[in-house]
Amino acid sequence: MKVDMHTHTLYSDGLLSPKELIDLAIEKNLSGIAITDHDTIEALEEANQYVKTKDNFILVTGIEFGCEYKGKEVHLLGYFIDYDHSDLIEITEKLKESRVARGEKIVDKLIKLEVDINIDDVKKFARDNYIGRPHIARALVEKNYVKDINEAFDKYLKKGAPAYVERFQLSIKESIELIKKTKGLSVLAHPGLIKDKEVIDYVISLGIDGIECYHSKHKDNEINDFIELAKTNNLIITGGSDFHGEENILGNHYIDFNHSPILNRRVFHV
Ligand code: AMP
Ligand code: ZN
Ligand code: FE
Ligand code: FE
Repeated sequence: MKVDMHTHTLYSDGLLSPKELIDLAIEKNLSGIAITDHDTIEALEEANQYVKTKDNFILVTGIEFGCEYKGKEVHLLGYFIDYDHSDLIEITEKLKESRVARGEKIVDKLIKLEVDINIDDVKKFARDNYIGRPHIARALVEKNYVKDINEAFDKYLKKGAPAYVERFQLSIKESIELIKKTKGLSVLAHPGLIKDKEVIDYVISLGIDGIECYHSKHKDNEINDFIELAKTNNLIITGGSDFHGEENILGNHYIDFNHSPILNRRVFHV
């Protein structure tokens, strides 16, 4: 029962619609996926309705919150969240609004840097109510200011680069608490991408439920280390591809729910 527990749709910065994503997952013989869009739950109702038309396909309702620890990016995943929860709806709406305003500020900075770009160039790659830096990066690639998305981040968009703008975000503690409120499981996302490993002890002290051991950007030795860490601290082991649509990576990392009683129970309530 293979479930890829980390995927994005075009409701955040992925390229596929929830339906296209689910169809692709079925084509790849996955038994299920978690949709974990950045800061938004917008894909979940549509995805939920669509899986009802499929036999036995598991949809884990998820989210990925972008937070910071001592000034560095840390991502937290929420799984099996009740996406009707009013606090979750209110906060994700606020997060989205602030992303649009921040997108406009980034474009203003780019214009001051003599980049010929406007907000409509970015909105071509984004939805009206959600702008992420990857959308701006795609516009910069299209306009030949950079050769790829990585260069766009390095040259303009990453923290410390000339067009970087902060955005409103939840703290790690607030994210974990909100996920708990919605009856979800909180999981530290891709710890291999976090340089300051102190954050792991910090999230454990806040009562995190799990750790994302398998991830496209984790090296084999990191995967093993995180599994050991999860076992030592009684944390749920999760994993997924972090699929955004560009590459052929959907399902390259997954959790077999047959081998995870806790996750299995959340799906089948047994
Ligand atoms: P935002 O949520 O708008 O702040 O953008 C953050 C997202 O951009 C991350 O979740 C990644 O998907 C992507 N990202 C961050 N840094 C890079 C990078 N150096 N190259 C490519 N994508 C990146
Ligand atoms: Zn993303
Ligand atoms: Fe992430
Ligand atoms: Fe992600």
